[in-house]
Amino acid sequence: MNSAVARKRMVAELVKRGITDQRVLGAMQEIPRHIFVEEAMSAQAYSDGSLPIGEKQTISQPYIVAKMTQLLALTGREKVLELGTGSGYQAAVLATLADRVCTVERIRPLALKARKALDSLRLLNVNLKIGDGTEGWAEEAPFDAILVTAGAPHLPDCLVQQLAPGGRLVIPVGDRIDQKLLLVTKGMDGSVATEECDGCRFVRLIGRNGWNDEQ
Ligand code: SAM
Repeated sequence: MNSAVARKRMVAELVKRGITDQRVLGAMQEIPRHIFVEEAMSAQAYSDGSLPIGEKQTISQPYIVAKMTQLLALTGREKVLELGTGSGYQAAVLATLADRVCTVERIRPLALKARKALDSLRLLNVNLKIGDGTEGWAEEAPFDAILVTAGAPHLPDCLVQQLAPGGRLVIPVGDRIDQKLLLVTKGMDGSVATEECDGCRFVRLIGRNGWNDEQ
């Protein structure tokens, strides 16, 4: 099966599972997920599962990528911060849907591989940094949207501070095994509201405002 057909099937599954944002579905139809996974895994790239990407990390399952992206309600004008670049796939989806993406990865070999994959798609609106994303990216703030793609023990204050008025932040929060997706919205007056969405299971967000490495 060619990859465009495989993506079409993947997108049809996402629709069945309740994804309705046509821009998100369009981006996931467009971005070749197989280039973000090891060649040996490329046959599984369009099934709805997470896959190992090395360094004990994973590329998230397509449904969760779609769900989290849909919660951000992007229109194309936003500056977005992603924490946990991993393979770079989620950053590629965001780059297709927003004006600019800043993404942070703590593991250098993953960041370098992700940069190569993003460059191969000529996604020139992605700025990638190696470092601890739990501190956000103060020099680039404020962000219209923030997406955290690793499980945090709590919502870091600094991320809420780096969210622009009217902005949306999506983050998995919970223990090491199970988390809940939180949607945090900041009103134009600076007020903050938090809503609990789906359950999920992510690798840990490790850093100063996340889990520490030994936990
Ligand atoms: N968004 C990724 C993708 O599309 O492939 C999947 C992310 S993977 C589930 C979680 C990633 O978060 C891992 O690559 C991990 O190294 C990274 N990570 C964990 N803690 C981090 C931190 N404090 N700052 C930046 N990245 C972090």
